[in-house]
Amino acid sequence: MSRQEQLLQRARSSFQAGKSKAVEHRLQQLHRLMDLLTERRKDICEALRLDLGKSQHGTELFEILVVEGEIQLALEKLSEWACPRPVEKSLLTLSAEAYVQPEPLGVVLIIGAWNYPWAVTLLPLVGAIAAGNAAVIKPSEVSCGSASVMEKFLPQYLDPDLYPVVTGGVSETQELLKLRFDHIFYTGSTAVGRLVMEAAARHLTPVTLELGGKSPCYIDRKCDLSVACRRITWGKFVNCGQTCIAPDYILCEPSIQSQVVDEVIKCIKEFYTDEPRTCEDYGRIVNQQHYRRIMALMEGSAVAYGGDADQSSCYIGPTVLKDVTAESKVMKEEIFGPVLPIITVSGLDQAIQFVNEREKPLVVYVFSNCKKVIRRVQDETSSGALLANDCLVHFTIPALPFGGVGHSGMGCYRGRHTFDCLSHLRSCLIKPLSMEAVNNMRYPPHTANKFNH
Ligand code: NAD
Repeated sequence: MSRQEQLLQRARSSFQAGKSKAVEHRLQQLHRLMDLLTERRKDICEALRLDLGKSQHGTELFEILVVEGEIQLALEKLSEWACPRPVEKSLLTLSAEAYVQPEPLGVVLIIGAWNYPWAVTLLPLVGAIAAGNAAVIKPSEVSCGSASVMEKFLPQYLDPDLYPVVTGGVSETQELLKLRFDHIFYTGSTAVGRLVMEAAARHLTPVTLELGGKSPCYIDRKCDLSVACRRITWGKFVNCGQTCIAPDYILCEPSIQSQVVDEVIKCIKEFYTDEPRTCEDYGRIVNQQHYRRIMALMEGSAVAYGGDADQSSCYIGPTVLKDVTAESKVMKEEIFGPVLPIITVSGLDQAIQFVNEREKPLVVYVFSNCKKVIRRVQDETSSGALLANDCLVHFTIPALPFGGVGHSGMGCYRGRHTFDCLSHLRSCLIKPLSMEAVNNMRYPPHTANKFNH
């Protein structure tokens, strides 16, 4: 039996013994996860510095605070989420109890990505624990520092039988995917998402796929360009552009392109100085392979700013590309790096058409002072989320379901949404054995006198 099989079997027997189901146990494990984040913060920050050059502030803000908030929410709301949810009854079931009872699914496989390795791995774990499941946790091998800190500390804080960590690369993940889980929660690329779904189909295992794509950002002529570009520059270059919901490219009219370029450059300099390479707040590309991929994407496009790079330290400076066309290399795949292409369109109609000719993205961004423009983008496009006049921050509201649609993903999570996604919502109808007379009508023989009332 492989190590993966052994871990799964142990998690399953602990689950079947009812260990993870008791609400007290769920709360206790969530408290332990919170302790880990507090007591091992230094190790987490150091791992992320090595993995992605993340600053301590970046780690606190994007990896730790968000998970702590999620744990806190689960601790506060768990009893409400887990209790029966009464539903409206029909005339024939008035004397019965009818409700939906969330129940745990079993053992969930959580496969994380490397760009926010703590957030994308622990957020689903919070929901898995809250919903009473066991979970096998597979952090991304690409952010290897974080993976080894998770492997070391998660078993020290959480029940190691119920929540084992499996490290390793593609082959280890493939081994895991051969096994039968009760749900697979995958975060990563669309291409691998397809493989995960294929593997899951063999066991009829449901999946949540948190994938990627090219999130467009339309800037309307009628908007405060300096504020818009400030927010876009932040959303694009945080974590060196390696953010699934980063605005991938800008669409705007030719008349404002040079102003957009100037404003973005101004913000890059303000945020990261004239020398981002030495700026504490500017990260690095995760590895050489992604470095080469991003550099190759820029080929053939006009650099309006940046373009400087250093392969040995996986540094690519914040870069703006102008007059980019749909045929450019940079428009052929998700950039996932610090490169911001600008494509000019004749106006809103063409922008909407451009978006709709492509796969549905994780987010559609629109910047405008005009409600009608925002409304049209909302009504005439489709995406995991729509965000007007800011970037990324919809992720900070756990009440908003986070997820993609079409090629950007399947299913959604955060807060109660994760709880529901990793629960079976069981329909329960509890009837008394009394009042048999009301049932007479349904029993044969269906003679006329039974219906003549
Ligand atoms: P990655 O290469 O780390 O892969 C993610 C996971 O898939 C890893 O655990 C890895 O072991 C596994 N994996 C990789 N190749 C595999 C294969 N052939 N078979 C089985 N398992 C395999 O991460 P990535 O895919 O480079 O992540 C970046 C992508 O993730 C981007 O597209 C980004 O937009 C997306 N992403 C999405 C979200 C979201 O919430 N929607 C969040 C973060 C990242």
